[in-house]
Amino acid sequence: MAGDRFASVNPARPAEVIAEFDVSTLAAVDDAVARATAAQRAWAAVPVPRRAEVIAAIGEILASRKAALATLVSREAGKILVEAGGDVQEAIDMAGYIAGQGRNAWGETHPCEMPDKFGFTTRHPVGVVGMITPWNFPVAIPSWKIFPALLAGNGVVIKPSEHAPQCCAEFVRACVDAGVPADLIQVVYGFGDVGAAISSHPGIRAVSFTGSVPTGRLVASAAMASGPRLVSLELGGKNAMVVMPDADLDLVIEGALFGAFGTAGQRCTSTSRLVVHRDVVDEVVDALAARAGKLVIGDPVAPGTDVGPVIDRKSAERIAGMVETALGEGNSLVTGGKIVAVEGCEGGAFFEPTIIRGTTRDSYLTRNEVFGPVLAVVETDSFADAIETVNDCEYGLSAAVYTRDVNQAMRAVHAIDTGIVYINAPTIGAEIHLPFGGTKHTGNGYREAGKRGLEQFSETKSVYIDFSGRLQKAQIDNRDAIEATDV
Ligand code: NDP
Repeated sequence: MAGDRFASVNPARPAEVIAEFDVSTLAAVDDAVARATAAQRAWAAVPVPRRAEVIAAIGEILASRKAALATLVSREAGKILVEAGGDVQEAIDMAGYIAGQGRNAWGETHPCEMPDKFGFTTRHPVGVVGMITPWNFPVAIPSWKIFPALLAGNGVVIKPSEHAPQCCAEFVRACVDAGVPADLIQVVYGFGDVGAAISSHPGIRAVSFTGSVPTGRLVASAAMASGPRLVSLELGGKNAMVVMPDADLDLVIEGALFGAFGTAGQRCTSTSRLVVHRDVVDEVVDALAARAGKLVIGDPVAPGTDVGPVIDRKSAERIAGMVETALGEGNSLVTGGKIVAVEGCEGGAFFEPTIIRGTTRDSYLTRNEVFGPVLAVVETDSFADAIETVNDCEYGLSAAVYTRDVNQAMRAVHAIDTGIVYINAPTIGAEIHLPFGGTKHTGNGYREAGKRGLEQFSETKSVYIDFSGRLQKAQIDNRDAIEATDV
């Protein structure tokens, strides 16, 4: 944080600089918090439906800029164009959904134990929310946090990943163009130490973090050491797809390809464990390998590309190292496994869609998040064993079960201990009106999106109104008083 500069580059062609940024200093973070704090007071006084109108207007601006933004996402984060468009579309959808919440119930009413008395709750902004985001959904994830935070009346200080800062800058520009006061959303740039400054800043009441488990732990520790603060964590995954012998295997192949190799496997919900019944495992693995080998690896903005680059060379080397460790454990390589070069994308870090067989619940590859296009196949001989395998994992984000047996599907929904379960659909593909998040080491109980997505950005106040005109002791042991009252 010494006033340095850094560049965000195209992961497919790292010599191509997307934009340059000053690394925010500690003083710049302080200044950002001060500005957001001052602006937040006025914003909190704006009626909620009016705040919602501004958010709806952001959605319209994002829609009008969708093609340009999608191209930027593709160039800066390496997502193929269709996925980059999906990233922007999620933000547009989130704007519509959150704007709608602005005219929804803002609290609850409750009966009271005493006559002539009732209770209700109201929701209030927390103040300034600190946000730290990853690069893999560089428009969608900021929208999942910023829209509900704004609707709830908060100010925002956000630090995007060093890999996708321009996407965040463009997203925030759309917010300001739509009428969000410029000081209300502050973007600070840089690396982990800028995130650390946000996590422990005394002017920040809530921290909303999405990223890896190790970083999440650091953020939470820093926030609580100088807190307490509200800290929401959305962390990694090791998501399993279960294939039972009665499943529609064509659907399984399509789902596994999309789930495991979409976004080059760099989604928190990517399918990274394929738990397949022994009766169909050869058929599934052979068909999947044949299809995976035909996926087109290339420049993400080029039409026809199926798999773009991973985010940087370091990441590709880490993935290659993980594959090597898996093979060293005696697992066998079915297809892929290597960093490959792509013509016209000099220096880009591309990794082949990779399938590895012979892993068990306890293998290195089934226990550790790869965050790359690597699928571990685990054989199973029963539904019960498959579910146990899914749950025998420290992460709890997403799981999928392929079966035509509705009873089995419903049993899986109940028995699987992840935050998201799909039946006959891959582990990826969230819709913004359903809560998103995971159990165990994937998170700390908050959810993003859906109605629950507002919870991390507001404080609840309980209000009791007594219109009896006398002192009523609202305690359960005072029930005699209630019974004695003439109603
Ligand atoms: P990281 O944890 O490496 O980084 C996330 C953010 O934290 C970045 O902005 C990073 O900055 C910042 N950061 C790094 N160190 C610190 C620190 N000490 N204090 C505060 N902030 C810090 O994750 P990635 O960006 O690599 O994203 C991939 C991970 O995110 C995967 O584990 C994936 O599963 C998870 N993820 C989870 C999602 C969910 O909803 N559950 C959704 C999407 C991704 P910088 O990049 O500049 O170092």
